[in-house]
Amino acid sequence: MVSVDEFVTPRVILSKCIEFDNCRYNGGIVSSRVVKTLEPYVDYVMVCPEMEIGLGVPRDSLRLVKMDSGPRLIQSKTSRDYTEEMKDFADGFLDGLGGVDGAILKNRSPSCGTKDVRVYADDDNSPVVDKGPGVFGGAIQEGLEDLPIENEGRLRNHRLRENFYTTLFTVARFRLHVEEAPGMENLIKFHARHKYILLSYDQERLRKMGRLVANNAGRELEEIIELYRKDLTAGLEEESRPNQNVNVLEHAFGYFSDDLNDDEKQLFFDYVDDYRAGKAPLSTLISMVRSWIRRFGQEYLRDQYYFQPYPGGLADISDSGKGVDL
Ligand code: SF4
Repeated sequence: MVSVDEFVTPRVILSKCIEFDNCRYNGGIVSSRVVKTLEPYVDYVMVCPEMEIGLGVPRDSLRLVKMDSGPRLIQSKTSRDYTEEMKDFADGFLDGLGGVDGAILKNRSPSCGTKDVRVYADDDNSPVVDKGPGVFGGAIQEGLEDLPIENEGRLRNHRLRENFYTTLFTVARFRLHVEEAPGMENLIKFHARHKYILLSYDQERLRKMGRLVANNAGRELEEIIELYRKDLTAGLEEESRPNQNVNVLEHAFGYFSDDLNDDEKQLFFDYVDDYRAGKAPLSTLISMVRSWIRRFGQEYLRDQYYFQPYPGGLADISDSGKGVDL
């Protein structure tokens, strides 16, 4: 199987008030089991943009207010507009960031929120008239447009979480094993070991990426890596759908169908039904196939990251049942 030593350590931007600092406007902190669970496996780049622009704790809260020029970040009590300071901070933060693989931002925050932030008609008791990203969260999404960015609320959902983990660790492997160690051999190896992952997201794109790696067009390595990255991140952008995962798993199942007894086969297909119905996480099925890979020594499948896309300590079956629509 993929050895634990082979796992890379992704760099992940994190809103600092999630688990790490009492920096919310009221001195509060937000708990997130996902952020805690991820801690040993990633390098967090922690940031509280409101503290960074000089606001202390406690502070009067900010809100987004709709204006002709777009939403503005306003402190209700003082009517002070912090939009430009926040934008300047975000630009500088992105400039000095270095290699990064994704972000987990605080949902619904007028600064850090990714898409679900209330936009008010005014800075008084006015109604909500729109929703959108926070000022810092929006800048991060624009600056890192092809990377996985989620809020801690959505990550309570197991399907979104599995997808986030898979994408995060895959783009980190690409950054560290290909972009920062460029060579055709490394790209070919990366492509070969991610075929099942790519197949689970977009079969057509997998074929296109295969042609790119074959390089019949005689492109320079730098251009191939750039084009490959675009396809990789675009391909991983949409959540992989259950039917596509079932397709991959049934394909893998074919390697073992002669060796398994009827009970084992039935258990597999029962889990497939549960997974399709949203009652079981993908990781349960992957663990099952992984145990067969070990048991029967299937070398081709052993090398596929699909069967261990991220460290095993991140796989769990719990789900709040919330977070899908945030
Ligand atoms: S949501 Fe962002 S700005 Fe607000 S306290 Fe958390 S890290 Fe700071």
